[in-house]
Formats: sequence, C-alpha cells, structure tokens
Amino acid sequence: PPGLYIVATPIGNLSDLSPRASDVLKNADRILAEDKRVTAKLLRHIGADTPMTAYHDHSDGTLRERVLADLGDKRIALVSDAGTPLISDPGYKLVRAARAAGLAVHTVPGPSAAIAALTLAGLPTDRFLFVGFLPAKAKARAEVIAEIAPIRASLILYESGPRLGASLAALAEGIGERDAAVVREISKLHEETVTGSLLQLAERYAETGPKGEIVIVVGPPAAPSEATEDDLDAAIDEALTRLSPSRA
Ligand code: SAM
Repeated sequence: PPGLYIVATPIGNLSDLSPRASDVLKNADRILAEDKRVTAKLLRHIGADTPMTAYHDHSDGTLRERVLADLGDKRIALVSDAGTPLISDPGYKLVRAARAAGLAVHTVPGPSAAIAALTLAGLPTDRFLFVGFLPAKAKARAEVIAEIAPIRASLILYESGPRLGASLAALAEGIGERDAAVVREISKLHEETVTGSLLQLAERYAETGPKGEIVIVVGPPAAPSEATEDDLDAAIDEALTRLSPSRA
C-alpha cells in the first residue's frame, strides 16, 4: 500500500537487513536517504536501483511538502545511514507532518544501536532513558548530566571515539560511582563491550578514545534501602516518645 515506510537498516553487519526491509527498499517508488552514497552501497548489496532523494529534517519545507503530496499514491521509504531512522537521525518532522495530513505511516523495525547496546551491557533493562548525544560544550554537557543524574533508570548515550574520554570524565564527575558499559562497533569485526564503574571507565579511556562507533550505558542509581518492619516500629516508637516524653 502507499504511504511512508520507516525502514531500519543494519548498524554494521549487512546481513541484519531484514527480508521485509529489503523488499520495501526494492519496491518503493522512492527512497529518502540521509546520505545517498551510504544508502547506494546498501542498495547495491540487495540489487536494488530505487531512485533516491536526500532528506534531512532541516531540509527546507518544500521537499517535505512534495513528499507529502506523493504519499497518497506512492510508497516512499525513509532510511538513515545506519539503524533506525528518527533515533538521533532525521525523520521526526516528516512523520509528524504525514500524521497531521492523515497519511499512512508504516514501520519496518530493525536494528538500533541503543537497544543492541542495552542487551550487551548487563545492566538493568526494565527502565531506561535514551539520552542520545551529550552536548559537545563542557557547560551544556554538565547541565544535561545534572538533569539526568537522579533519574531512576539506566541511561543510554551515543558517543564518538574522539569524545568518549571527555564524556566519561563528565559522567564520572556528575553521576559518580555507577556501573556502566562502553559498547562499540556492534555487529562489526571489532565489537567490544567493556564494563566497569564510570570512574574506572573514565580512567581507562582518559588518554585515547577507541576507534569506531560507541554507545555508553550507565546503570541506575542505587535504590534507597527498603525499610523493614522493625525500622518502622522503631521510628513510630521514637515519634511517640517525642510527642509524649512521659512514655519514656
Ligand atoms: N539511528 C541510529 C540507530 O538507530 O542506532 C543511530 C544514529 S546516530 C547518528 C549514530 C550513533 O549511533 C553513533 O555515534 C554511535 O553512538 C551509535 N552507533 C551506530 N552504529 C553503532 C555500532 N555499530 N556500534 C556502536 N554504536 C553505534
């Protein structure tokens, strides 16, 4: 059927492209790509020659209008360079506009580095916050870290090799001694997961950031210890004593 197809593509290993994603990319009338050269490689891999147009959310509104005009009777696929579109990648404004216009939006789910890293880190997965990239400037970065520090959830952050050291140092300073993992090159030859406290990891990567693409996962803050029945009884006794000293 016509409409906008959000298509996830591999984050390293080309075999992770799903059969459905491959079909949709082959049979779409047009592919909106973040970088046409990157997507051209993927299309060669599956033997597709679907026409492509470069798309960014900051592309001017005219392109978005043209895409919307086509969606009524065409199949338009949106991909990013790797992983799931819209996740620290372009697409959100297009989906919002398509929804507002009552047009069909379909998704072809697949790889995303955030979820893949969470499954590798060995940290709690029941609640997590996707933080994306921290700001590059120290002051803005410290502010974001202060804001997310108290949140009772694991944190998922995207990072690049050259900035890993600075980000880990800022996290260690702002969030302290929490379990974390540095996950890199997921599904590629040099996939690696290094676990440790934020302080240990900050020290390890202080000098040289490793090559490649990186996700940092930070475990949640320690839960406040649960009060036992005895604790509660003692607290009630103490309160009553304070209210009526004669009971002492
Ligand atoms: N939309 C993508 C997704 O769903 O994963 C993310 C796009 S974002 C611009 C790129 C960042 O994702 C990288 O800087 C890195 O933090 C992370 N990333 C992408 N591929 C990765 C991989 N194979 N291993 C580790 N991290 C990866």
